[in-house]
Amino acid sequence: MIQQAIGIDVGGSAIKAALVDLAGGIRGLIRVPTPSSAPEVAEQCGSIARSLLSAEARAVGVGSAGLVDRAGGVHIWGPHVPGPARISEVVGEATGLPVILDNDSNAAAFAELTAGAVRGTSDAVVIMLGTGIGGGLIVDGSIYRGRGFAGEIGHMVLDPSGPTCECGLRGCWETLVSGSVLDSAAARLAADHPGGAVARLAGGQPPQGEHLLLAAEEGDAESLAEWEKAGEWLGQGIARLTAILDPEVVVVGGAPSVAGDLLLDPARATLVAAGYGSHLNRHPEVVASRFGGESAVIGAGLQALESLDD
Ligand SMILES: [Zn+2]
Repeated sequence: MIQQAIGIDVGGSAIKAALVDLAGGIRGLIRVPTPSSAPEVAEQCGSIARSLLSAEARAVGVGSAGLVDRAGGVHIWGPHVPGPARISEVVGEATGLPVILDNDSNAAAFAELTAGAVRGTSDAVVIMLGTGIGGGLIVDGSIYRGRGFAGEIGHMVLDPSGPTCECGLRGCWETLVSGSVLDSAAARLAADHPGGAVARLAGGQPPQGEHLLLAAEEGDAESLAEWEKAGEWLGQGIARLTAILDPEVVVVGGAPSVAGDLLLDPARATLVAAGYGSHLNRHPEVVASRFGGESAVIGAGLQALESLDD
């Protein structure tokens, strides 16, 4: 029998789930909005997991956006996902399966480490662009956790007089570049230019980053400028992380990463221009995740499958 796990990604905007196999393949992807209260978040994870139950599903892995008590299976707090949410207990009762809970970006980093862009790499950073920015730090071939909460790179302050972040600080990295920032840029361009490319491509739906990408690919100058700006802020953060961690590879995941070089080329250029010791020309490679927006779902499932071997 093929071993599979149910992988669940609890993000600020949506909860996504799918059946995940050992090679990192997924099927049956489900997406529902993230509820606004902690008990509802746990209940939603339970019901979505139950809907994916099958004979092959042996365990459930959950990655949630925020600070996570892995041993207790509790999502403690996050600026975009309410807590405390007793996710492991509720999902375990709903499915009868063992449940592994981790931070969503650590789950994504596990996917990159076992089946993705940093297999066999000793030192890497995985950046997840979503509602905010999550980070998974790979040091000496393992996920670095500090005392448990390491990797909250989205809340590095890059502009102390910048926009207020949902965490309460000002000018956090994720207020300058994220999936939400790109969605806002799309909405702004559509409002400013009702006959423009973004408004036309959105076709009456709320304008989002995907429409900004399509408009940029058509050559729309203002959309191209938004991706350029996003890439530059991405590069500013990568430059700081590189000064601290000196990684071989930086993987950029999450929905905006499908923009590829449109986003990553300005990030690479900024890294060269703004990096410490840049003249030594030993910058990390900056690559897009091959999992697009699904790396946390895949990584959560793979972590659950790995736990069965213990
Ligand atoms: Zn913040």
